[in-house]
Amino acid sequence: MNLRLAKLVSITLLVAGVAATVAADEKERQCSAPARVCEQEIRRMLTGRLYLGVQLMELNPGLLVKGIVADSPAERADFKAGDGHSTTDSTIKDFKQLLSAARSTGMLFVIVQRRGALRQITVRLEPYTDAQIDKIIAQHLATSHAQTATTNP
Ligand SMILES: [Zn+2]
Repeated sequence: MNLRLAKLVSITLLVAGVAATVAADEKERQCSAPARVCEQEIRRMLTGRLYLGVQLMELNPGLLVKGIVADSPAERADFKAGDGHSTTDSTIKDFKQLLSAARSTGMLFVIVQRRGALRQITVRLEPYTDAQIDKIIAQHLATSHAQTATTNP
């Protein structure tokens, strides 16, 4: 593989991690804010926001598609769990700026490595549905508000 292609792979795959960013950022710490405030804030942030719908994991080096959100743009575009590459030092942190670029057009062109072959995937980003936002909120409450989420008033 030549260097230019390797670089393209690394940049384009990064954008695929967009949907995982919120969860990854908040996964490992407990929120000090009330759950209800968080719920409103997350809903406000995600409503109308374009997303892709893949879950990424960081390898060392590289990124790997760990899972695909059901009924997401990623699923419609034929992303598969296991897509990825291991030739760059890209991190999940890097793709926030790339996300902005993809959102300006709503279109994402991704090249992934699947079973050793390169494959181009074109995705039309879509806004989160209410059901998906509910799910993300529920997950946040379960991981970062564990006590309040499991306590009945
Ligand atoms: Zn919270």
